[in-house]
Amino acid sequence: DAIVRLDFYVSHTLGLSRKEAKVLIGKGNVTVNGVEIKKANHSVQQTDEIFLRDKRLAWPQEKYFLLNKPAGYVCATEDGEHPVVLDLIETHEQKDLRVVGRLDMDTTGLLLLTTDGQWLHRITSPKSDCAKQYRVWTIDEVTDADLEMLSKGVQLNNEEGLTKPAVAERVSSHEILLSITEGKYHQVKRMLAATGNRVERLHREAIATVTVADVAEGQYRSLTEAEVALF
Ligand code: URA
Repeated sequence: DAIVRLDFYVSHTLGLSRKEAKVLIGKGNVTVNGVEIKKANHSVQQTDEIFLRDKRLAWPQEKYFLLNKPAGYVCATEDGEHPVVLDLIETHEQKDLRVVGRLDMDTTGLLLLTTDGQWLHRITSPKSDCAKQYRVWTIDEVTDADLEMLSKGVQLNNEEGLTKPAVAERVSSHEILLSITEGKYHQVKRMLAATGNRVERLHREAIATVTVADVAEGQYRSLTEAEVALF
């Protein structure tokens, strides 16, 4: 279980700055397992009973959100020029949220956000092989030969070796579903480029069995416990 500093814990549970938390602790307002602790760097863990005066503090809950990202938003927490995906999350829920992987500014669809760094890493690590499914609208027609290339693996520009096996299915002449387990920079656009085509619009529909179908564009919801447990 996680071990954190007392000032980190107090700032998170009460929504305070680290400085404000240090002041509270320094004044002797905080007890850990019945003992007054004035040291901000005192280590605490989930099994500790922590009180602010006579109020028991809960262990901070990790947050897991699924956002249906609209086009025009950048996957960052700050950007001087463009709106960022964090702007779509209610202010009181924004603290410590990180974006799980990146979608391009013009890409729409499923984006996960979390405060849980280990969970984030399990999804984004190059070793993770969870499937990400994209709906891809293309400028040129996708042929049977293109579908076969995409599923077997293509050579990306400036990359050694082929992309890993993928699932590529045609929806219509200019629309396919592409499911990949990697997440290289601009991977889907580069895969289509490798077949001599170009992406007109890109929408992520699912990661593993988590889908964005029930969330309107620009809206978000918490993941269920079962969804969190998938990764
Ligand atoms: N592949 C891309 O090219 N862009 C994205 O946003 C996601 C995957």
